[in-house]
Amino acid sequence: MTSSNLAKGRYLVTGGAGFVGSHLCQRLLDLGCEVVVVDNFITGRKTNIQPFLGNSKFTLIEKDIIEPLELSGGLAGIFHMASPASPVDYMKFPIETLRVGAMGSDNILNLALQKKCPILVASTSEIYGDPLEHPQKESYWGNVHTIGPRGCYDESKRYLEAITMAYHRVYNLPTRIIRIFNTYGPRMRTDDGRVVPNFCMQALANKDLTVYGEGKQTRSFCYVNDLVEGILRVIQCDHSEPINLGNPTETSILEFAKRIITMAKSSSKIVYRALPEDDPKTRCPDISKAKSLLGWNPGMDLETGLRHTFDYFKSTL
Ligand code: NAD
Ligand code: UDP
Repeated sequence: MTSSNLAKGRYLVTGGAGFVGSHLCQRLLDLGCEVVVVDNFITGRKTNIQPFLGNSKFTLIEKDIIEPLELSGGLAGIFHMASPASPVDYMKFPIETLRVGAMGSDNILNLALQKKCPILVASTSEIYGDPLEHPQKESYWGNVHTIGPRGCYDESKRYLEAITMAYHRVYNLPTRIIRIFNTYGPRMRTDDGRVVPNFCMQALANKDLTVYGEGKQTRSFCYVNDLVEGILRVIQCDHSEPINLGNPTETSILEFAKRIITMAKSSSKIVYRALPEDDPKTRCPDISKAKSLLGWNPGMDLETGLRHTFDYFKSTL
């Protein structure tokens, strides 16, 4: 199974003007599908979807999905991607983040029920909190600080998973849950506060790279095109339980900073800043389920993926 086998129908993408959503729209259009995006631009940008606006197969609905969405015509499937995702964004908009996961997800699941179509929802590795199991398998229940600063996002996504399973159990709705691990690539906002845009922009300006804590915490970075391929395989498979999507190549944040300075041939130095509260100490996906169910394996190496991303940031200057 690959993304090319996807039925060429009309798809709804919530959060389609965001980083991941816009790449997903691009791929769907390339495959010959029709795409409807609903987005309120809380963290997304019109520029991300600007190239699609003249395409007769593309429709934009500017709307907050915490309000019910009426849509005429049929749908072949829904990709529910809407939610702030960067820690800086969701800490700035904690109530909006909880609402989109709760009311927004309920509305969109209801729409899938009306349209009798499959729905894929974007959950996250944050479900695992500061994980005590490593690498993280889908069977791990997590270690989440409900009332901490990241709680608004973690609990929003845990509710998203719970309500998705409830729709599946009560109505037999064909639902898919993906747990996305750190994903990067072109079209990330330069100011979203995540580590990839921060380090790339700092290196480009020959400014100090801000490593939080001692930089011993780890992350595993997946290139956005690999993620999109995974998403388009998951919607086609008949599996309602969560599936991890991420690249298991793990790096410490300090190593990551050094790598970016070298790649950028930058004169930047590393400075250390306070580690944010509840920052997960490790994060690495066990992707054996995605491999065996979907034949999916993220193929982009970090060096090449970072180069594409860095070139994108350079082009924004
Ligand atoms: P993003 O912030 O770039 O995109 C999210 C989009 O959702 C934005 O366009 C935003 O305007 C829209 N949105 C938010 N609330 C909305 C609402 N109430 N109504 C309508 N639109 C709304 O984030 P992203 O990195 O593209 O993440 C996309 C999805 O993937 C999110 O659900 C996120 O939780 C999940 N995810 C991403 C990553 C990652 O590393 N990028 C990791 C884990 C999970
Ligand atoms: N980080 C950092 N410097 C920065 C931004 C982030 O050291 O300028 C660290 C952050 O503390 C975390 C990791 O990089 O350990 C990834 O952060 P990001 O915000 O990208 O996503 P997270 O994985 O925490 O959701």
